[in-house]
Amino acid sequence: MKPFTGSFTQQEALDDEVVAAAAQVLRSGRLHRYNTAAGELSKASELEQAYAAYQGARYCLACASGGYAMAIALRAAGLKAGESVLTNGFTLAPVPGAIASAGGRPVLVEITEDLVIDLDDLDRKARSTGARFLLLSNMRGHLADMDRLADLVRRHSMILIEDCAHTMGAAWNGRKSGNFGLAGCFSTQTYKHLNSGEGGLLTSDDPDFMARAILLSGSYMLYERHGAAPSPEVFERIRLETPNMSGRMDNLRAAILLPQLARLDDSIARWNERYRAVEDGLEQVEGLVLPRRPEAELYVGSSLQFRLPGLSRSGAEAFVGACKAHGVELKWFGASDPVAFTSNHHSWRYVDPQLLPETDRVLSTLFDMRLPLTFTLEECRHIASVIAHCARGLSPEAA
Ligand SMILES: *Cc1c(COP(=O)(O)O)cnc(C)c1O
Repeated sequence: MKPFTGSFTQQEALDDEVVAAAAQVLRSGRLHRYNTAAGELSKASELEQAYAAYQGARYCLACASGGYAMAIALRAAGLKAGESVLTNGFTLAPVPGAIASAGGRPVLVEITEDLVIDLDDLDRKARSTGARFLLLSNMRGHLADMDRLADLVRRHSMILIEDCAHTMGAAWNGRKSGNFGLAGCFSTQTYKHLNSGEGGLLTSDDPDFMARAILLSGSYMLYERHGAAPSPEVFERIRLETPNMSGRMDNLRAAILLPQLARLDDSIARWNERYRAVEDGLEQVEGLVLPRRPEAELYVGSSLQFRLPGLSRSGAEAFVGACKAHGVELKWFGASDPVAFTSNHHSWRYVDPQLLPETDRVLSTLFDMRLPLTFTLEECRHIASVIAHCARGLSPEAA
């Protein structure tokens, strides 16, 4: 088997249009979002308008990161110190981190074998805790049955905030991910669907919520200079009660995001071609299970997960090692020590320890890889053949 030599962390270069947009902001010297010439709409405001239009939301705030968007969303939604916030037991560390930074207590909900929040466990925990908030993480781009979830949220009178770091551009039954509750939170960190190094976007249709979020983000009372914000009267009522927690986006990052946003749907089609190329190569591998992708889900295949149920710890280690020897670097979510990133709830020691046997069982044999757009379809097929080869080579005692 020929080794794979591509890099799973190499994103596409930003093209000349993006470089020109950045150069224009740099030459102007007006990098701060409120530093505008007479009659000028700042790039940050322009991005807010463009993203609100893309998302089909009334309002949008551009901010410092996806994690920051979630933290101020919880505050703007009225989270009080010590309150419980339900969230997925399997997500990336910025999610429980955002809850902690907003003063909340994460209550972790089990996931299913398809890697989405377990709606029965959500129902039980909503009832037993009386939590007012659900910070739903659409982890690795997998959407739960969003119609059933929205119904459950309504029945428990909960406030839903969606973490859409991996579902920017995705939809359920034609409705965009992020539009199912009070707010959607997006990330423009390098490995997400738009790349500005760091950055976040928060969307909502609720004027009071968005006015509070804008004030929290550090608007210096210049909220009239926002591109997709509620009208000034909404701010009048709350402007002196809302603390400033600076986390604005600057014009440089907004400028490099605008041309990328214009091509997002095209990028999504390219990610999905790559996803399907790997998926095709893995479908026939005995003992390997791919997550189900429901008909209603329009996904963005920017990463791919699979399970090898029944594999022991040492078997999983051997499998990861064999793939790595062939140049395919997989993440294994069952690893006892977090490597490069932390997605296992046992490593979030600031959170009250919680029993999640089903989540632990799923994670113990779950593997993951990114699919950057720098990979060709041929390379994707190659990756699949390496994984298939290593999975077939697992010794019977490892399985
Ligand atoms: C990347 C990510 C975020 C947000 O991350 P930031 O680095 O704060 O922009 C949130 N949730 C998940 C699941 C993520 O992977």
